[in-house]
Amino acid sequence: MSTYIFGHTTPDSDSIIGAISLSYLKNQLGEDTTPTRQGEINPETQFILDRFRFKAPELKTTYAKESVYLIDFMERSQSPKDIDEATVLGIVDHHKLGDLTTNSPLEMWVRPVGCSNTIVKQMFDYYGVEIPKNLAGIMMCAILSDTVMFKSPTCTKEDTKACKELAKIAEIEDYKSLGMEMFIVKSDVLNATTEELVLRDFKDFNMGGVKIGVGQLEVVDLSVFDNMKDDLFSAMRKIKDEGDRDTVLLLLTDIMQEGSQLLVVSDSLSKIERAFNVNLDNSEIWLPKVMSRKKQIIPFLEQQF
Ligand code: MG
Ligand code: MG
Ligand code: MG
Repeated sequence: MSTYIFGHTTPDSDSIIGAISLSYLKNQLGEDTTPTRQGEINPETQFILDRFRFKAPELKTTYAKESVYLIDFMERSQSPKDIDEATVLGIVDHHKLGDLTTNSPLEMWVRPVGCSNTIVKQMFDYYGVEIPKNLAGIMMCAILSDTVMFKSPTCTKEDTKACKELAKIAEIEDYKSLGMEMFIVKSDVLNATTEELVLRDFKDFNMGGVKIGVGQLEVVDLSVFDNMKDDLFSAMRKIKDEGDRDTVLLLLTDIMQEGSQLLVVSDSLSKIERAFNVNLDNSEIWLPKVMSRKKQIIPFLEQQF
């Protein structure tokens, strides 16, 4: 029986490509694995897969009685509902220690780097397995995406090193212009409903017993949202109410200005203001230099909740 490998709910490029790259490595090492995904492919990921001629992993949302590897997450709130009935053989991740536990010993590759695919690259090197050209291409794109082309504070020397080595294998000299193409695709927010936009890169966290959802949209120019604010707020309110959440935040990240406009819908407004030491103006505020949900948002929320 095949072992499934998948990333978090509402998968991003790192989760999808990580499932593909880790599955390829595991299969080379003699295991029988299949990459899967827990949700729809976003436009950026589709662009990357098309560019290097990969098919999307199959959609699969239940895993009872299956063996699995998790990549790019270890939070219960980002897992399939029946994760407790699956056997987790291993985790490859670059997030904070989550709240999942396992019944048996497991393999863990967890490093404080900017992208799960950086860790997968290090695993290829560790096992001495060659990376095919096209696989190197998508892994490189995953790193450019997760590190916002090395601009995110989560980016480490290990990420830039892995990315450059992958670019070499993929024979792509100007990887930054490919990265820019990717973010321009990501900036096209006109072909989606506002609810789809809020949920495009959305993560739930359980903090002190309350559910907090944080979405992020990374674009090359924030003006794309100019006529959309009211609709974004109503979509956030709907998502908050329907999902029984205490708070829904949306980060509109401008990758050129290197900062984020934070939109807030919350039953705990004063906690949010304290977390970021700000006074919200009409439920929003510009946070200069803030680009990373993982490093610059979640830890401060955890402190307050
Ligand atoms: Mg991710
Ligand atoms: Mg990631
Ligand atoms: Mg991200």
